Amino acid sequence: MIEPGATIGILGGGQLGRMTGFAARSLGYDVHVLDPDPNCPASAIASRVVAARFDDADAAASLAERCAVVTLEIEQIGAAAMRAVADRAPLRPGADAVYIIQDRIRQKQWLHHKGFPVGPFRTVSTREDATAAFTSLGRCIFKSAHGGYDGRGQVRVDSANGAAAAWEALGAVPCLVEQFLDIEVEISMQVARRPAVPVTAPRPVIFPPALNFHTAGILDWSVLPAAVSSDVVTHAETVASGIAEGLGIEGLLAVELFVLRDGRLLVNELAPRPHNTFHATERSCATSQFEQLVRAVCGLPLGSPELLRPAAIANLLGDLWTDGTPDFAAAMEVPSVRLHLYGKATARPGRKMGHLSAVGATGDEALERVLSGRRALRP
Ligand code: ADP
Ligand code: MG
Repeated sequence: MIEPGATIGILGGGQLGRMTGFAARSLGYDVHVLDPDPNCPASAIASRVVAARFDDADAAASLAERCAVVTLEIEQIGAAAMRAVADRAPLRPGADAVYIIQDRIRQKQWLHHKGFPVGPFRTVSTREDATAAFTSLGRCIFKSAHGGYDGRGQVRVDSANGAAAAWEALGAVPCLVEQFLDIEVEISMQVARRPAVPVTAPRPVIFPPALNFHTAGILDWSVLPAAVSSDVVTHAETVASGIAEGLGIEGLLAVELFVLRDGRLLVNELAPRPHNTFHATERSCATSQFEQLVRAVCGLPLGSPELLRPAAIANLLGDLWTDGTPDFAAAMEVPSVRLHLYGKATARPGRKMGHLSAVGATGDEALERVLSGRRALRP
């Protein structure tokens, strides 16, 4: 067990690292981060920022040398950097799981080979592959294998000509191509697992499912718990905990799922870290996802994921800053609305600057509150 007072290292200093850092600080840990930007969001809570790229093995070694454990808030970490960490401190989740997840092709093939439910897909690395993928899948989405997030690195395709053009627009790099699915709702699961200890196998602890709404590939809002049938919840829990066990996760594993109009439940993608769709756990659950991550990687008892009351979040993208600073006070007048800003100096369209959270008697009420708070930001 890594006792409070020790130092936790975080690879990545964005908003997820910042909020994990707040939770770690509350528990009495010190926090060091590695991020290319010395003024990254987590720099506000870190006592040391190693400013370096995520593939810089020397910098990763320098971070790990002074930490009792290292975790991550981004999966795009170079293999040599992960090895450099793991040689000096436990890396949780481990390099093997992160290696599988960080490449969309490897991730989807792993899920498929392990028998987890995924939609039809192809892998593409030439112009000919691109056209053939459209021929076999029909309407589809090209996703670059590396580096995409928040809908970036993706192109939707409706024609054979469009397929080759999409592949070239993505830089003619290896791509995962997925059939365009007829989605009824998107949900996600967040699973926590402690490191294995002799005698007791680590049992996954699962938060209630989140219901998620995306606009242009970016999360717009999320509600906890998702109003889906108990059959869907049970199935999603089985799938999510099976994946976390299969990957040997020590820490958190977020699983994004699609509920299709024909009733099927399919895995979209994985993230071995805190997830935007579980920010509402800070308001709705006995333990937040951030504290849960700290507990898991330190080998502390996992916290209860019990739902205390419904909550929702709405993301604040940089677009809201186009005509000047948003009217934060107006949003905060809405009952139970709280403002969460990530300390990013420059606002750009599509950039996640913060979120609003609210609780409610129902998920719908909580959602109405964050959405009306967000409308109030721009009179
Ligand atoms: P990101 O890493 O940017 O979150 P995702 O693969 O999760 O990438 O895609 C972002 C969003 O695009 C999803 O949440 C969903 O709304 C939509 N999407 C992704 N894949 C598909 C698909 N195969 N069919 C229909 N919509 C999809
Ligand atoms: Mg996603």
